[in-house]
Amino acid sequence: MARPDAVRLKVLLVDDQLSHRAALSAELQAMGHDVVEAGNAEDAVALFTSLRPDAVLLDVAMPGHNGHWAAQQIRQAEPEGWTPILFLSGCVSDVDLAAGIEAGGDDYLFKPVSPVVLQAKLRAMQRLWSLHHQLQILTDQLRASNADLQVQSLHDPLTGLANRRGLDIRLDEALRTARREHQPLTLILCDVDNFKAYNDTAGHLQGDQCLIRIAQVLGETSRRPRDLAGRFGGEEFVILLPGTSHSGAMYFAKGLQRLIHQLALPHPATDGRTCVTLSGGITTVVPDGNTTIESLLSRADAALYTAKSLGRDRFFCFETQTDTRTGLAEVPDYDREQGSTATLF
Ligand code: GH3
Ligand code: MG
Ligand code: MG
Repeated sequence: MARPDAVRLKVLLVDDQLSHRAALSAELQAMGHDVVEAGNAEDAVALFTSLRPDAVLLDVAMPGHNGHWAAQQIRQAEPEGWTPILFLSGCVSDVDLAAGIEAGGDDYLFKPVSPVVLQAKLRAMQRLWSLHHQLQILTDQLRASNADLQVQSLHDPLTGLANRRGLDIRLDEALRTARREHQPLTLILCDVDNFKAYNDTAGHLQGDQCLIRIAQVLGETSRRPRDLAGRFGGEEFVILLPGTSHSGAMYFAKGLQRLIHQLALPHPATDGRTCVTLSGGITTVVPDGNTTIESLLSRADAALYTAKSLGRDRFFCFETQTDTRTGLAEVPDYDREQGSTATLF
């Protein structure tokens, strides 16, 4: 593509008559433009697509497809762009002129073409091209900013995980899919243990760093394509595991708990705990018409409350009333979906 301020244009010159082409080409080159020539409409479209000229001078009457057809093809080839098309014609009736503009042309030049008129019209087209080009740049920038905003509006700035809004959207999708496919859906609500004491002792900024590290583990752990970890608010996180059964969820939670232990973030409080721990409430359902996001969250919240009352640093399942300390024995290579054979951690 030429620069918006370019004076030198790459012009695609289309005329079936060699003598006309030669004369116009010489004039265009004398004006300092580069010229690419085509002798028929098909070649013109192919050259346009491969070379992307800055302007097209297009004869109307040609054997085979005419100039109007070529103009339509060119417009279709650049749905978001706009390259000036000037028709060349010997005699133009009002109807011909209207048909040419309708086909995608921008102006007409009458043969034989006056060099002064040609120069003037190319300048005008060039000006319009520059404006269009600037508009295109602004549109692209706007589109990129919108995409950025969209990402930001769905993510938590501190941890980079999905925020409440992002979670809501994905929860809704997951619930509807699980309902339609009669598949289990697991939701885990996690909460950092004694985090107020952490903040009170180590300070809020250090607390933020702690949340970032925990969020990182949650994000890395929720690694299947449809899994999702999000920040529910404060020091609470949600993990969504579509297609994951009770036993699979318990196995996942045990693995997660182990990773948090391995992370071994020192807890500065002096209540006997040495490292930061996580408690979680798990609910697993095959949703029916009555299951709502609120009902899932409320079950997970009740299970989280139980995990806290049992002494924290554990994940408790609402449906089976077991936790990661007293529940299923650890089975290596356990599959979250089937209850057998696959590697999770
Ligand atoms: P429990 O084990 O029962 O969950 O106790 P807790 O102290 O973790 O719970 P509580 O709800 O009393 O305190 C939560 C703390 O989380 C209080 C609040 O200052 C802190 N918190 C919430 N959001 C943020 C955050 O974005 N950054 C930091 N640093 N702290 C946060
Ligand atoms: Mg909390
Ligand atoms: Mg807490």
